[in-house]
Parts: sequence; structure tokens; C-alpha cells
Amino acid sequence: MKHIVDIHVDRCIGCTRCMRACPTEAIRIKNGKAHLLNERCIFCGNCIINCHKSAYKVSGDSFANLNKHKISIVILPISIFGMVTSMEELGGIYQILYNYGFDEVYDLSLVTALLKEKINEFLKRDDKTYILSQCPSVIRLIQLKYPSLLPNLLPFDFPFEIGAKLVRKIASEKYQVKEEDIGISYVSECLSNFIAIKEQLGKSQSSIDNVFLLNDLFRNSIESKDMEIQVAKKGVQFAKVGTFDCMTSLHKVISVDGIKQVDEVLEKVYLNKLTNIKLIEAYSCIGGCVGGNFTLENTYVSKWKINQFCDKIDDGSSDKLVKRYRGLLKDQEWFFENALKPQAPYKLSDDLNQSIIKMNKINEILKQLPNIDCCACGSPSCRALAEDVVNQVKTINDCCMLKKEE
Ligand code: SF4
Ligand code: SF4
Repeated sequence: MKHIVDIHVDRCIGCTRCMRACPTEAIRIKNGKAHLLNERCIFCGNCIINCHKSAYKVSGDSFANLNKHKISIVILPISIFGMVTSMEELGGIYQILYNYGFDEVYDLSLVTALLKEKINEFLKRDDKTYILSQCPSVIRLIQLKYPSLLPNLLPFDFPFEIGAKLVRKIASEKYQVKEEDIGISYVSECLSNFIAIKEQLGKSQSSIDNVFLLNDLFRNSIESKDMEIQVAKKGVQFAKVGTFDCMTSLHKVISVDGIKQVDEVLEKVYLNKLTNIKLIEAYSCIGGCVGGNFTLENTYVSKWKINQFCDKIDDGSSDKLVKRYRGLLKDQEWFFENALKPQAPYKLSDDLNQSIIKMNKINEILKQLPNIDCCACGSPSCRALAEDVVNQVKTINDCCMLKKEE
């Protein structure tokens, strides 16, 4: 996997904040600078949020790509509703996108409203515990750490992928052009979705042609604008964690946000310590998608804005919108194309005997280390330093505490 996240070495001061925030020990500090171990990264974005030097850099696609298609459509993430309290403010956001050169603007509320219905239906099939599949970082965590839970993931594709298929059909009919003549861009609110599109998670080809970053597009203040926009109220709440809480009278839903909390809950499910649960709604970001690392509004203010916005939407026209497009996609277009496979965990060696030898060495080194996980050596724990020593990327002399004792 190529590096999509870059680190500006000139900005990085090697403070270890990103390394300590990483849930999968995917960062090391070497020669005073942060380094990413791509094979361990689940793209949760914690490192980006925690770096106070803005050393992490992710680049969206170029606007020049918009000229490649006859019709250019942009889809806004569901978290956009955390930025507005009225249709006029949403109109202001649409206007900015028209100014960038897009022919059509859609938001994801229609898709998430339809998806909610589909999920509710799906859950009635059996008594199994399911895990919501909307957050790519949660999926990657399961692939990496809890592969036996992969059959518990709902098989529904990401809303932005389903949305791209849906709006391509709608626009093809409206403009009387072939679907391949329509270019779809997505405005991503988080690293996790950005990478899922770039790496085509769960499919051989993403339905999205370009991805832009939310905080790149809306840097300037947004003016209100009167515009005719249709929003599906039932889909808007999908932006924040807890949308499924009252879905069933059975009270069998756990809603969890923040990747470390998600990890703890998944571990309990993995160890069979949580039973009688129908759905685990899990999001890597605090608050759900409104907490995405490229969003511009405070998570808690966003949640409040969403409620304000929803209060102003007319239920009747919102329901009509959902009804109109209910059958437009074929059944298979709602699901991941490819089965999600386990991701090989970090291997000490491809050879089993070598792995055992290395494991023994790690345990021997660990006995010499203070086991206080201070991170001063540039590895996220004493165990990680022992591993790094065995893998010859560090030496035991990197342990500052041992040095102090000498
Ligand atoms: S948080 Fe990480 S990338 Fe940012 S300055 Fe500190 S060590 Fe460098
Ligand atoms: S994106 Fe998340 S998993 Fe990847 S290096 Fe950053 S903190 Fe670690």
C-alpha cells in the first residue's frame, strides 16, 4: 500500500503525541521525526488530530479532473449537516460548490435514509450480533485485530459509494447522458473515508472519481443562499453516533465512538463477554462522522446544529423524496462487491520457526526494560521497543531509562 499520508519532516519536532494517540502502534519516532508503519495503520486520523505542528499532510484530488467528464457531480458527506442550522445556510454551501464548477450538488441524506430502512430489514433476518459497516477504520481494525468478527459486519457498502451509484442514475436520466459521462466527486470529512475510496475497500473499483477534503473546500465564511434543496430528514441523523439507539424496542443496540472505546467493545464481543446484542454501532471518530478529522465545526456544536436543522425540515416532503427513490438501485448495489478479508497482522517473520525465535528474544529483551511505556525511546510501548530491537530498527540503548541508570 502506497503512502497517502505524508509527514512534513521540517514541521515534525518528534514530540511523540501522534505516536501515543495511535491505537495500533503504527508510528515510531526515529532521529527525532515521526515515521508511519503503513501495514499497521487503520487510517483513523488520530495522529492528524493530535499533531499540534500540522505535520501530517493529506492531499485531495485536483479540480482539473472535473473537466474529464461531461457532467460533474459532487456529493457532500452526511456530516455537512453539522455545519448548518437552516436550508439557507446549506444553500450557501451548495453555492460554493457550484462556484468551484460542479454541475450538480447532492448530499448523502437520501442514501442514509434509504440505508437505514435496508439495515432495519436486514437485522430482522436472524439473531446474530451485527456491527455497523459504515466506518472504514472500524472495518480495518476488525480486519487487523479481530478477523473472526468479519462475518458479524453488516455487508452494506459505504453510504458514499451507494450514493455515487444512485446519483449517477438520477443524473443520467436528467441530463440524458451515459452514466460513464458523469464524474462523481466526494467531499470527505475524514481520513478513513478518503482512504477507503482511494484503496477501494470492499470492491475492485470505487464509484467515486475524485475526493476532496472538507476543510480544503470551505475555508472562507459561508453566505446564506435561498435554493431549492431536498433533504431526507431521517438520513440526517446518521451523521452522529446513536442514530440506531431507538431503532428497535428491544434495546439491543450499543453505540460507541472513539477508536480506543471501539477497540474495547470489539474485544468484549470477541471474548464473548457481550451477548444479547443485535447491533453495534461503532465509529472511529468521537461523536460519529460529525467528529471526522477534516470537519470544521466542534463535534458537540455539530450535534446541536443537526437537531436545529432537522426541526425545520418538513416531514411530508422528506418522506416523499425517500419514497420516490426507494427502488432505484438493484439489491446487489447496496452491498460490498468483495468479501472483506482479514488483514495480515504485523508478522515477525514469514517463517514460523523464525517467528518463535524472535518472540523469545522479544520476551528476553522485555525483561531488561522498565515496562513503564514512557514512549521516550520513540516506540509506543516497551514491548514495541523490544520488537523494534529484534527487527533491528532500534537498539536497547534507545531506552532512556536504562541510559539514566548507567
Ligand atoms: S505529533 Fe507527531 S508528527 Fe506532530 S510534531 Fe509531534 S511527533 Fe511530529
Ligand atoms: S491514522 Fe490512526 S492508525 Fe494510522 S498512524 Fe495515524 S493514529 Fe495510527
